[in-house]
Amino acid sequence: MSAVRLTFWGAAGQVTGSMHMLEAAGGRFLLDAGLFQGHRVDARTLNARVPFDPRRVDGIVLSHAHIDHAGRLPLLVREGFHGPIHATPSSRDLCAVMLPDAAQIQEKDFEFLRRKGTAAPESEPLYTLADALAVQDLMVGVPYRRLTHLRKHLALEFLDAGHILGSASVDLRITEGGNRRIVFSGDIGRSGLPIIRDPEPPTGPIDALIIEATYADRSHESVGDAETRLGEAIRRVAARGGKILIPAFALGRCQEVIYSLHHLYRAGKIPELPIYVDSPLGVDITTVFRMHPEVYDDREHLVASGAGLFDFPLVTYVRDVEQSKALNGLRGPAVIIAASGMAESGRILHHLADGIGDHRNLVLFVGFQAEHTLGRRIQQGEEVVRILGQEYRRQAEVESISGYSAHADRNELRAWVRRLGGPVRRAFVVHGEEAGLGAMATILREEGVREVHVPAHGESFDL
Ligand SMILES: [Zn+2]
Ligand SMILES: [Zn+2]
Repeated sequence: MSAVRLTFWGAAGQVTGSMHMLEAAGGRFLLDAGLFQGHRVDARTLNARVPFDPRRVDGIVLSHAHIDHAGRLPLLVREGFHGPIHATPSSRDLCAVMLPDAAQIQEKDFEFLRRKGTAAPESEPLYTLADALAVQDLMVGVPYRRLTHLRKHLALEFLDAGHILGSASVDLRITEGGNRRIVFSGDIGRSGLPIIRDPEPPTGPIDALIIEATYADRSHESVGDAETRLGEAIRRVAARGGKILIPAFALGRCQEVIYSLHHLYRAGKIPELPIYVDSPLGVDITTVFRMHPEVYDDREHLVASGAGLFDFPLVTYVRDVEQSKALNGLRGPAVIIAASGMAESGRILHHLADGIGDHRNLVLFVGFQAEHTLGRRIQQGEEVVRILGQEYRRQAEVESISGYSAHADRNELRAWVRRLGGPVRRAFVVHGEEAGLGAMATILREEGVREVHVPAHGESFDL
């Protein structure tokens, strides 16, 4: 049999930076090209060092548009990668919005440090807006369940991973020197998430499975409970005349919360109060969602009704800076959804500064808050918090809803593995912290996978 080799260049022993190299059928292919995220200097070093020659990569297969999976595409293009990049059509369109935004954040950060006189060579942007736009020319849209040849003896099929719009599990068939099948799970989502379909694992025997482990050691509350709690919180805070401030990622969480609010509104479960989506990136991403009804879950009542998912009488989309500022003067009940999801940057900071001192208000977290973020400090109930360089005494109520998580928990990961059906010869566990990786390895062994690896960064395996 001819050589097939896997090398793990990211999300190996950690969550971010997803990038795995497959050498097969005489070519070299990357599965994902994600950005490492975390402490500025460490992440910058990891991101800047590409451990192979991008000019000698024959193609990239993208599982989904989150930055920790797609955020290094512009860097590879800048360093000579010339395509193609295979992605689902909705991932392709999300990248057209997400990657230019990532480039502009880096350019703005650098400009800020330069003006402060503290810019070092290692704080230079990894890539520019032009590099991010050049990625788009190399993108090839491949719909779910359409077998596509990457080269003569290597075919690809995308299956819905149920994680975010366009997210895919990647099923690769090698037909040179005997048939082999490699499956990359991508990030695995959950049953019942708003808008998108449920995860659909590939079925049949697998020679090598690369699988994520983010929450393999945890359980989430159900999505249905999350919507019920969202409705309760809004009724309670509206009754006392407060504002509900929701920090939300512009991709995924933002649209899911709008969808839930629309659902609650139609069911008469929230009062008539204005809802502002105050995020230019969130507005752009919502537009991409509108362009892809073909991947919606039509078993959902609201989708099946044919109503515009993101338009109902209460909701207003805010792009303009002046209009955003004007929301600060707003009194009385209202919902404000703004990025960033962990309150580290973006317009949510202004709304928190304005509203955190008022006991009638609620800061409502609908996503994971990493350590050392403002979101985590507020979530943990710190009495005094620093926002935009100023200290504020927190009077607002704080609540967290975990049911909107886009990642399968331990039971859902086990169910996904069971639904593979056929035997899995070898598995490689990636995209997790130590506890999650260990828990996923245990699940796989319990489900009958004999050979389970937790690869280290840069480790290679011949299949
Ligand atoms: Zn993801
Ligand atoms: Zn991820």
